[in-house]
Amino acid sequence: MKRTLLVGGVNSPVRTFAAVSEPPLICSYARGSFLYDTQGNKYLDFIGGWGALIHGHSNPRIRRALKKVQTSGILYGLTHDGEEKLANKIKSFIPFIEKIRFLNSGTEAAMTAIRVARAATKREKILMFSGCYHGHADSFLTKMGSGGATLSLPLSEGIPHGVLNKTIVIRYNDTEGLRKAFHDNPDIAALIIEPVAGNMGLVPAKKDFLTEARKLCDKFGTILIFDEIMCGFRASYGSVAELYNIFPDIILLGKVIGGGAPVGAIAGKENLMSLLSPEGPVYQAGTFSGNPLTCNLGLAALIEIEKNRNINHLENLGFIMDSILSDTKRITFVRLGSMCCLFFLSEAPENREDVDRQNRDVFSNFHKKLRAKGILIPPSPYETWFLNTAMKERDIKNAALIIRNTAEEVLN
Ligand code: PLP
Repeated sequence: MKRTLLVGGVNSPVRTFAAVSEPPLICSYARGSFLYDTQGNKYLDFIGGWGALIHGHSNPRIRRALKKVQTSGILYGLTHDGEEKLANKIKSFIPFIEKIRFLNSGTEAAMTAIRVARAATKREKILMFSGCYHGHADSFLTKMGSGGATLSLPLSEGIPHGVLNKTIVIRYNDTEGLRKAFHDNPDIAALIIEPVAGNMGLVPAKKDFLTEARKLCDKFGTILIFDEIMCGFRASYGSVAELYNIFPDIILLGKVIGGGAPVGAIAGKENLMSLLSPEGPVYQAGTFSGNPLTCNLGLAALIEIEKNRNINHLENLGFIMDSILSDTKRITFVRLGSMCCLFFLSEAPENREDVDRQNRDVFSNFHKKLRAKGILIPPSPYETWFLNTAMKERDIKNAALIIRNTAEEVLN
């Protein structure tokens, strides 16, 4: 079908596959760990709905939840018990959460979090890190300027200077840079970070770096926000905060907690969360927020995660990938939980600037060849790959061998 009405033929830019100079993949259906395009090609899917689909496609429990919602109602626009059930299930994984608000996307969650932080601190500046992505709200569409901490540059047109002037961007995993940013700007409202970054390939923050971030936020009265929209329930079976034992004031969730339906969430300490309307003066609302479809599918997804067999299975898949991909010389395989990524670098990168040193043509060639062999990794060297519980050990073993051979092939 000709795609003339959709802007750029897509509804989200990465789907054009322009970054790897390929035509977009037009999906026809998906089942388990495989995706099928309209030309009848079958792919082992490492994109996994950009991380949302931890159980792959059409998981039976999630399908049952969907069936239930079909009869009980997809949208009430009113409160229902499913919201509290999902909230309680999330809290059982992430006990430090005291209150939660569901929204419809990660973008909304990040946007709301900085509004809360600004209201709580009566300050305006936001500190973020180059290579992290927090959705497409104006305040986050910046990149580091040549002046580092003092100058951030717009990533998009249409954003008022007044907004961007409030966003400071510094290097990820750079503790000295972090100290300097606070020294130069003692009036930062919020520090927002992906504690395991998944938007520059997979780059986990160093524990010392996060510990220092926590300390500086405490010292300067800054709200610490962990954006776990991607890494939550992926890097570990709950939050990175619990994994590292470093606790933010606000945590952002999304993707996995919606079981495949649109979702975002902001959660954290009672004193901050109660600033949100209707309890407090920070306005936030949504027609679809906490809708029955998302809550039921999300609950089913989290119940599936609780199962030991699923956890063990994901671990096994990860070990298989590690064992086949880790000991190669000119490539570096990084994995944490069900997130992974292969870099055309001899060492694991620590920040966006390291990731940028990869050869883009080599990656494009790699992607193209894998696609032709039925392995679908994200169409950009800046995206993380995802494992899911529907993947079979033999498929992963086979895929990892192909990935390894293909990487070697494109480097020769
Ligand atoms: N934060 C992180 C870490 C993300 O990875 C994403 C999306 O990939 C977002 C925020 C934005 O979420 P959404 O696409 O649901 O708006």
